[in-house]
Amino acid sequence: MKIVKILEQPVRLKSNISNSLVNFSTHTVSVLAVVTDKIINGKPATGLAFNSIGRFDQSGILRNRMIPRLLSAKPDSLLNPETERLCPAKVLKCAMQNEKPGGHGDRAHAASALEIAIWDLNAKIEDEPAAITIARSFGRRLEIPKISVYAAGGYYYEGQHAQALQDELKGYQDNGFTMFKMKIGGASMAEDIQRIESALSIAGAGTNLAVDANGRFGLDQAIEYGQAMQPYALRWYEEAGDPLDYDLNRQLADAYTGPLATGENLFSRQDVKNLVMYAGMRPSLDIFQMDPGLSYGITEYAAMLTELKKNGYDRTFAYPHGGQLMGFHVVAGLGLGGCEVYPGVFQPMGGFQDGAVIENGMATIPDTPGFGFERKANLAVQFAELGQ
Ligand code: MG
Repeated sequence: MKIVKILEQPVRLKSNISNSLVNFSTHTVSVLAVVTDKIINGKPATGLAFNSIGRFDQSGILRNRMIPRLLSAKPDSLLNPETERLCPAKVLKCAMQNEKPGGHGDRAHAASALEIAIWDLNAKIEDEPAAITIARSFGRRLEIPKISVYAAGGYYYEGQHAQALQDELKGYQDNGFTMFKMKIGGASMAEDIQRIESALSIAGAGTNLAVDANGRFGLDQAIEYGQAMQPYALRWYEEAGDPLDYDLNRQLADAYTGPLATGENLFSRQDVKNLVMYAGMRPSLDIFQMDPGLSYGITEYAAMLTELKKNGYDRTFAYPHGGQLMGFHVVAGLGLGGCEVYPGVFQPMGGFQDGAVIENGMATIPDTPGFGFERKANLAVQFAELGQ
């Protein structure tokens, strides 16, 4: 079995929304197809993926560096000798040839798309959902195909007021969500506290509402917000400060007794090791949000989980960032705490398969082979336009 070609195309996100730091209207994502010489149902077996959401496309790194390395590799060097299928870890290693360690930026997202496409391919060859392939590969059984999900929204829309935020969360609630996340830090603290109170009138309890500052605050402001929000006993307080400022996180953890959440902007095992050693993260309380779609794929993500375990943190406190189908299957396959969902935003990547049902805050993994991108019409079109 060998890779015949790898196709990549940047796709623009349809989202003119903002958090406290970033407007997403110019954001793009790389969609990618790894086409092989194996034939399934009369067609070449093909793995599909994209590089998650919230960064930019990786066309240059993929086309100029990683794809040529894979196409020039000896085909057998990319195979798992036991299964004779493409090995995600070997594909990742080959894609990263001659890259220095450290500095885990955009290339981590590029490599993710390649590595995750191999999981989609292998699941399709097995004719099973990717969650099952992932579980088996890491010695787990997929016991609970239903996973906990929460609706991430509450962005700063142009001219949005309290009523619009309530309407948005009510819409998620009507669609079966019980837990919600909203943005803070893009307005004054007084306004944000009013927004939180508006949201709580729909969410019902602090434990149903998380807030995300997207790394906006310095230490003093992070603590000030923490003190103001403490009485609401929120589900979690996410990325208060710069994601690499472990000292800030540690001092905030000393001052704020509720759960903190971070990790979506850490892209390597080493970054996660530093987080758990130096950022004051509290076992059985704080939440880890690393996103396999941004951090070299599922191989590296599993190494991050190993790092958590070694340091006394349970994988059920991992809630990957991303809100898309790849994260959905990873959460189910690896037995994590739950999954973010972007219902209706960040299209065509955000959200699950068409017709996905959320019941009482839980969603069921679809039975489609692979990640099921083919069951999400607006995303399937993007893959079809790759020409495969
Ligand atoms: Mg976030």
